[in-house]
Amino acid sequence: MTEQKKTNPSLPVLLGVMGDPIAHSKSPAMHNAALQAAGVNGMYMPLHVRPEQLESAIRGIVALGYRGVNVTIPHKEQVMQYLDVIDESARLIGAVNTIVNEEGKLTGYNTDGIGYVRSLKEEAVPELAGKRIAVLGAGGAARGVIYALALEKPEQISILNRTADRAVALASDLRAHGLGDITGSGMEEAAAILASADIVINTTAAGMHPHVDDVPVDPALIRAGAAVSDLIYNPLETRLLRESRERGCTVHGGLGMFIYQGAVAFEHWLGIPAPVETMRRAVLESF
Ligand code: NAP
Repeated sequence: MTEQKKTNPSLPVLLGVMGDPIAHSKSPAMHNAALQAAGVNGMYMPLHVRPEQLESAIRGIVALGYRGVNVTIPHKEQVMQYLDVIDESARLIGAVNTIVNEEGKLTGYNTDGIGYVRSLKEEAVPELAGKRIAVLGAGGAARGVIYALALEKPEQISILNRTADRAVALASDLRAHGLGDITGSGMEEAAAILASADIVINTTAAGMHPHVDDVPVDPALIRAGAAVSDLIYNPLETRLLRESRERGCTVHGGLGMFIYQGAVAFEHWLGIPAPVETMRRAVLESF
C-alpha cells in the first residue's frame, strides 16, 4: 500500500461514483460509512453521468478537486481514453473502475478482479497457489477475475462458457500475456473439468435475481469438498451455492467482491487500510 495521501485537512476529501443509472448504487452508503469509521473528513457522492457527458465529467474531477471516483456501467471502457495513466492490470483487463486524481494527473485502476481475489482468500480459500480452478463464463467480469487469479499461481485455470468461442479466445489472449496454464472450452467439457477442480467460480449472470432458479451448470457435477464461489450477490446465496453447500462444498458469495473492490479503491485514494467490516455492515444495512 502507498503512504497516507496528503490532503488539505480543512477541506473534505471528495469522492464519488459515475454511472448511468446510478441511483441504485450501494457504493455511497459503503464509502461514506468507511470515511466516517476511518475518521476522514470526506464525502462520496452518486454522480449520474450520461455517456455523452463522460468526457466533461472526467474533466470535472480535476476542476472540482475530487480525490477520485469509481466508474461503473456503462463507462468502464470508454473512460480510459480520458485518463493520463492506465495501470498495467487495467490495461490488460481493458476496463477501469477506479480513478485517482494526483494533483491533476488522472490514473485509472481496475480493482474488481483484485478485490474478488482478496475476498476469496479472506473469506473462503486462503491459499490459491497450486489449485485447479474452473471459471464459468467468459465476459467482462471473468476477464478481471481470471487475471487476478493468475497472479496467485494456481496450477491451472479452465474457462467454461456457453459460447465456447469466447472461452477459447479469452484463454488464448490471457495465455499470450504469460499468465500461465489457462484453457477455454464449451460446457460439453464441464463434467470432466469440474470433477477435478478444487475451486469453481461462477462469473455468469445465471442465477441472478429475478432468475433465481437458474444455475450455470449442474451442481451435482462439482466434486464434494471443492470450494464454490459465485460473483452474484443478489441473492446473497444463489441456487448454485445453496446446492453446493448441501453437497459438502465450501461456498463463497459475491458480496465480498463488491466490498473488497471498494476497499482496494479506498486504499488507492487515501493510502490507509479500508475498514472492511464497517463497509460490509453498511452494504448489508442498505439492502
Ligand atoms: P457479461 O460481460 O455480459 O458476460 C456474461 C457472461 O455470462 C457470458 O460468459 C455469458 O455467456 C454468460 N451468461 C449469461 N447468462 C447466462 C445463462 N443464462 N447461462 C449461462 N451463461 C450465461 O457480464 P459481466 O459483466 O461479466 O457480469 C457477469 C456477472 O458477474 C453478473 O451476474 C454480475 O452481476 C456479476 N458481477 C458481480 C460483481 C460483484 O461485485 N460481485 C462485479 C461484476 C460483475 P455467453 O458468452 O455464452 O453469452
